[in-house]
Amino acid sequence: METMDNSLHPSSALAEKLALGNLPASACYQCKKCSCGCPLTFAMDLLPHQVILLSLLGQEEKVLTSNTIWVCSACETCTTRCPNGIDIAGVLDWLKEEALKRGIDVPQPEVAIFHRYFLESIKAGGGRVAEATLVRRYTLFKMRRKFDFKELQQNMKLGWRLFKRGRLRLLGSHKPKQQEEIQELLQQIRS
Ligand code: SF4
Ligand code: SF4
Repeated sequence: METMDNSLHPSSALAEKLALGNLPASACYQCKKCSCGCPLTFAMDLLPHQVILLSLLGQEEKVLTSNTIWVCSACETCTTRCPNGIDIAGVLDWLKEEALKRGIDVPQPEVAIFHRYFLESIKAGGGRVAEATLVRRYTLFKMRRKFDFKELQQNMKLGWRLFKRGRLRLLGSHKPKQQEEIQELLQQIRS
């Protein structure tokens, strides 16, 4: 992991990245609407508006080692609420990738594994997740680390309920259209 004490020596690298493109974080005026609408702030060490501010102030270490980027479920409530059109969920997702790229220890390694399996599934499916494979891989990973029969039972019950409602496909489905755009996006991940 790189040394990144930015408390006295801020880095502009994150700020420059986040200020560009679809994420225009530099437009943030700290109204906190994003944090007020987020359903997961109770588990975060930094609130979404703080992540934006610290990124813009060049506090990379605080942001990239924060558990917030891994707790975020990408529900996009914050993005929808932002009066300045800042894609906060996109920022957090980008920060996740950046933390992985820099080899920063993830506070919740299980979430990082799920994230990796999820992206691998999307890549293999040309933009679509094969839910059954994803769940099977992740369950096996967890069982290998610590076998918990009760958790396994709960997951199986949940899986059955999702399957009955058509939310868990056993076989892969057709690849979505716009394959060219999707492949371009997938290329950008970890590049
Ligand atoms: S809602 Fe948008 S403008 Fe307001 S604090 Fe969050 S990111 Fe900044
Ligand atoms: S996308 Fe993440 S930060 Fe935004 S509201 Fe949802 S959980 Fe909170």
